[in-house]
Amino acid sequence: SGKLSIVATPIGNLEDITLRALRILREADVVACEDTRHSGHLLRHFEISKPLVSYHDFNEARRTQELTAQIAQGRKVALISDAGTPGISDPGARIIRAVIAAGLPLEVIPGPSAVIAALVGSGLSTDEFYFGGFLPSKSAQRRNLFSKLLGRTETLCFYESPHRIASCLDDLETVFPARQIVLARELTKLHEQFARGTPAEVRAQFAGRSLKGEMVVLISGAE
Ligand code: SAM
Repeated sequence: SGKLSIVATPIGNLEDITLRALRILREADVVACEDTRHSGHLLRHFEISKPLVSYHDFNEARRTQELTAQIAQGRKVALISDAGTPGISDPGARIIRAVIAAGLPLEVIPGPSAVIAALVGSGLSTDEFYFGGFLPSKSAQRRNLFSKLLGRTETLCFYESPHRIASCLDDLETVFPARQIVLARELTKLHEQFARGTPAEVRAQFAGRSLKGEMVVLISGAE
């Protein structure tokens, strides 16, 4: 019978696909993905050939209707994103809610997510954490957000785009000069790295080198 399967996929290292994810993808009638080229590459790597439909912020409403109708007709739809867990700073929430609203079955195939890998490898407290998704793109908005979170005692975790990291470090230094922070870079990949220290210490580690790659920014909570 029809079902939506939310399938986590690797965040860099293809060995991180789970056995269950592979089975669900093999059994799916259709795979809904962000980018058909990107996901086509992933599926080919595992010798899986399936019809792919793309969904993204601009067609999510229409695709949600189509995919929900397909599930109602008995088809198995696997939902994946470009990397990691769908719905976590990735599209997918809308179709998940629509399937729930329609009373149709849904299952989660858990797996990699950059925030969890970054948090556990950071060495910062995992007892309580705050995940803020992507940081705002403008420096003034980032400082504003950081200032609002100054008193929070949980470990603060954010996604950041590689080309803004230098300016993000400036903002961290302004608002959290004495806090321990961690940049978790290129997780699960060849150049995986955890840079730890105060914002100034972390910056010094990258002096003269460009800070490339995908990154999670973590800030120790207030004492
Ligand atoms: N759905 C994904 C997940 O579950 O982690 C997140 C997708 S979001 C569009 C992409 C952001 O996640 C990147 O800008 C980066 O902040 C983070 N990210 C993804 N892969 C990463 C990796 N291998 N190492 C560090 N950060 C990563």
